[in-house]
Amino acid sequence: MDHTNSNFIRNLIKKDLETKKRDHIVTRFPPEPNGYLHIGHAKSIVINFGLADDFNGKTNLRFDDTNPLKEDTEYVNAIKEDVEWLGYDWDGLFFASDYFQEMYERAVLLIKKGKAYVDDLSQEEIRQYRGTLTEAGKDSPYRNRSIEENLDLFKRMRNGEFANGEKVLRAKIDMSSPNINMRDPVIYRIAHATHHNTGNTWCIYPMYAFAHPLEDAIEGVTHSLCTTEFEDQRPLYNWVVAECEMEHVPEQTEFGRLNITNTVMSKRKLKQLVDEKVVDGWDDPRMPTISGLRRRGYTPEAIREFVKETGVSKGAGEVDSQMLDYFVREDLKMKAPRTMGVIRPLKVVITNYPEGQVEWLDAEINPENPDMGKRQIPFSREIYIEQEDFMENPPKKYFRLFPGNEVRLKHAYFIKCEEVIKDAEGNVIEIHCTYDPETKSGTGFTGRKVKGTIHWVEASQAIPAEFRLYEPLLLKDNLNEEEGEEKDFLDHINPDSMQVLNGYVEPTMKDVQVQEKFQFFRHGYFNVDPKDSTKEKPVFNLIVSLKSSFKL
Ligand code: ATP
Ligand code: MG
Repeated sequence: MDHTNSNFIRNLIKKDLETKKRDHIVTRFPPEPNGYLHIGHAKSIVINFGLADDFNGKTNLRFDDTNPLKEDTEYVNAIKEDVEWLGYDWDGLFFASDYFQEMYERAVLLIKKGKAYVDDLSQEEIRQYRGTLTEAGKDSPYRNRSIEENLDLFKRMRNGEFANGEKVLRAKIDMSSPNINMRDPVIYRIAHATHHNTGNTWCIYPMYAFAHPLEDAIEGVTHSLCTTEFEDQRPLYNWVVAECEMEHVPEQTEFGRLNITNTVMSKRKLKQLVDEKVVDGWDDPRMPTISGLRRRGYTPEAIREFVKETGVSKGAGEVDSQMLDYFVREDLKMKAPRTMGVIRPLKVVITNYPEGQVEWLDAEINPENPDMGKRQIPFSREIYIEQEDFMENPPKKYFRLFPGNEVRLKHAYFIKCEEVIKDAEGNVIEIHCTYDPETKSGTGFTGRKVKGTIHWVEASQAIPAEFRLYEPLLLKDNLNEEEGEEKDFLDHINPDSMQVLNGYVEPTMKDVQVQEKFQFFRHGYFNVDPKDSTKEKPVFNLIVSLKSSFKL
């Protein structure tokens, strides 16, 4: 099922081509390089690149770098890496800052047409003069400066004669417009700051609402797709393109933002988590960033399918994070090798198994995908099992190991618990079992049945491994309020969002590579951590557990 097939933006593009309003399609993905991309951006990426691909169009990756104070080359590089990793190739790679000269000239054109003026009001005064939804705005006392004076002042702003905030350039539109965005918006401000791309060439910078439509027009973008918070800016967008007399006329269409349960989805908030060391960097596996999801072990396929499933509509709403988990399970089911790992080890001695003997047992690499073949795992007198697979005094319906009970060891034999060994404090340190050689897996033994099957790792060849188990970073939903509305999301941090455990894995895992993914029998899907994993001690990040009540 292709969910991109029937959305309103697709229909719009189709119509534009059919009616010959357009003869080709150009979209763009325009991140501001002020942080790492998150899964919300993946939605924008899938929509922009996906639609252009479907109509033989082009998609630019454009860095919307008009705010020197927050932007950085580190972010530029991370964004490029993430877009590529998600599986997309851009046609043009552009920086809004490459257009600063042209934007400046277009602003001069507005001044010459009497459509822009230099204002000396402070930011606060401008806000007061702007009025409210029910009350018209007031003209600035500087609104009627002559064109000559405006040209001169704007040039002097550019030449660095004024301090930050001393003057701004405003579009001259309509102070009583019902749309507050049209009440003479600021289009240029002074910022004496070094820009990551243009250095100290400029000390005035265009505002987003002025820059964005020009960027789109300069690149010949036909469909400028953005999120619904820009809907009220659309008249201004069109005004800028028209009044600046741009040759190519792009058209803005809005779609609903993606929000996910138990997450914040704003670079600003994510940066706060990084800066306040709540997480270990932008790529912490608990982060909803693309780099965090990658490190955790989510695949580009799963992310793309998830995003497509959320659909394209005007509405926002929160999507359950379990839906993403569903798609990663679907993707890894056929691809990920099966293996066994013990996360909280308990030693088991099989007292009737010959000392010093090791036998190699056959195990399928992936029963869902027999083409992946088989692996051999060792079995001997000492193994590790999971602590929770043994109980000295079990409740009813506990079918795993307890004194006198018999269970199946996956791929091996039935074992029966004979004796519990404890330390001086009464803690169980080891259990002694016997095995029945008749019950070897794969021999078709039908003599008797057991109710429990547990996993294990042979002790002498076991590889020590670290397991990192994750839970949501935030314990509250609906933390994605509109930009600007401050919610103290840091009050809802889950103190148990990461648990680090030391256990063992099979010797077949000797040469695992970073970013390799496995399904640990009965535990879930894990990814080999790209940063902390070593040859001696691999580190496995839990991607998702196996079971979920979530249904599509
Ligand atoms: P943030 O608030 O996280 O910084 P932003 O919208 O300011 O997000 P930009 O770098 O401007 O981030 O975003 C680039 C593009 O990604 C924009 O077109 C924006 O609309 C889109 N985008 C950002 N967040 C989401 C989201 N949650 N869902 C869908 N699209 C998004
Ligand atoms: Mg932003």
